[in-house]
Amino acid sequence: MTLLDPDTDLAPLEFAVTRNLAAKNAAEREEILANPGFGQKFTDHMVDICWSIRGGWHRPRVQPYGPIALDPAAAVLHYGQEIFEGIKAYRHADGSVHTFRPDQNGRRLQRSARRLALPELPVQYFIQSLRELIAVDGSWVPSGDDQSLYLRPFMFAKEAFLGVRPAQKVGYYLIASPAGAYFSGGVKPVTIWLSEDYARAGKGGTGAAKTGGNYAASLLPQSEAYENGCDQVVFLDADRNVEELGGMNVVFVYKDGTIVTPQSPSILEGITRDSILQLAKDRGHKVEAREVSLQEWRDGVASGDIVEVFACGTAAVVTPIGALKSAEFIDEQPIGELALSLREELTDIQYGRREDKHGWLVRLDA
Ligand SMILES: *Cc1c(COP(=O)(O)O)cnc(C)c1O
Repeated sequence: MTLLDPDTDLAPLEFAVTRNLAAKNAAEREEILANPGFGQKFTDHMVDICWSIRGGWHRPRVQPYGPIALDPAAAVLHYGQEIFEGIKAYRHADGSVHTFRPDQNGRRLQRSARRLALPELPVQYFIQSLRELIAVDGSWVPSGDDQSLYLRPFMFAKEAFLGVRPAQKVGYYLIASPAGAYFSGGVKPVTIWLSEDYARAGKGGTGAAKTGGNYAASLLPQSEAYENGCDQVVFLDADRNVEELGGMNVVFVYKDGTIVTPQSPSILEGITRDSILQLAKDRGHKVEAREVSLQEWRDGVASGDIVEVFACGTAAVVTPIGALKSAEFIDEQPIGELALSLREELTDIQYGRREDKHGWLVRLDA
């Protein structure tokens, strides 16, 4: 099957559904949803679709959440051939369940797949997998303020083979984890550590793909950030241009209202960033994607030309950056109103409290 065109009308997959006989009861579920944290608790079911070079995508299943049996020679365990996505399901006031721009996540999963030499899951199948999981686990979408069900699609090389080449047996999975408000007690500005010794990605590398290896490479610099009292790391490229944080994009607001975000082939292009920039454009802001050097950032803050800096991504939505710290300096960052006002507009759309002018929402439970 070479069904790579997301605009092709594909027949839906026929999922086999196996119910989890040990599913949490309503009281147990409500107890978890009352205080879900992030990424710690999982719903009762998961999606699993197999791919092989001969059979294409096959055996689509919804089954009880649980361990995946892997041969110890499975290629992912040795060579890291893996990609993932992150997307949320939101409960609206009328009880309906929606997700946000899933076509974008589906296409990005395809781009990541291409870079990691994995098969491209058709976007229709990707979106169908979200619906299939919500059909059985919809009651896990919390209804509290700023709460959501975090959906984690992922794909990896399952073939038992130690030779180095793209695997011929792959699994696509979808798991889901209820998520509480990311910031308990309001959005707080974060302190960012400037990593001078480590890069996240290089020219021609995998920086633009959502792949586990990029995250593995960010863990040591992230520990350095913690040791220096910082929350997150910002990475530079070889020419000392600003790239992004370990898992969030960076946006600068200038005095004249212009919004600038770093452009680079080794940045992961966030859907939150794209949406925030669109909302800013709708408000009349000029938006630029271009190189931003560390020097421009520091000079802009010092001169007052830069009036706000924030990070954005699906998990935390929008987070103001309160300080930039390195071994040599600490630059306090100006705090403005725009980041939080764009955050509110975006979350209002996601939770159905404001008109969805761009048609970004997709209902999952109908
Ligand atoms: C996922 C991710 C982002 C944010 O992307 P969103 O689509 O906004 O969630 C930014 N940077 C990296 C490295 C990421 O993995």
